[in-house]
Amino acid sequence: MEDCIFCKIIRGEIPSYKIYEDDFVFAFLDVNPLAKGHTLIIPKEHKKDIFEIEDLDKIVSVAKIIANKMKESLNCEGVNIYHASGEAAGQTVFHFHMHLIPRKKGDNVDFSSLKVIKVEKDEFEDLSSKLKIEK
Ligand code: AMP
Ligand code: ZN
Repeated sequence: MEDCIFCKIIRGEIPSYKIYEDDFVFAFLDVNPLAKGHTLIIPKEHKKDIFEIEDLDKIVSVAKIIANKMKESLNCEGVNIYHASGEAAGQTVFHFHMHLIPRKKGDNVDFSSLKVIKVEKDEFEDLSSKLKIEK
């Protein structure tokens, strides 16, 4: 049995504000929300990150359902989907989760501190050849 805070939430050993559950997916309110209604969507099976998860499509389908519900019930005008895999990316709880954050114009949620970097043409070429996936 996993000694993981989100596994404990799924098992009901730690309380949460559950908003969705099916055989594979569980969703609940983030205890430290960036906006009212900020939700975390997680697989019921303990998978650490994007490199371990197999059925990401099930999480994404639930994100769509919850986004619609946010629009309908909270009158939000948009949503942000945020995810971190790995400590280097800022992940702090190592059970895969997708953040769904309802947004309204003029709210104080701030993603604007993200800074772009300069990449030269030869680096774009190198990166695109390294990342290219042939089908
Ligand atoms: P991340 O930093 O992307 O790994 O996100 C982890 C998220 O889990 C944070 O936004 C926390 O606020 C949230 N979190 C941690 N513990 C709990 C909890 N017991 N109930 C609800 N959300 C939690
Ligand atoms: Zn877990």
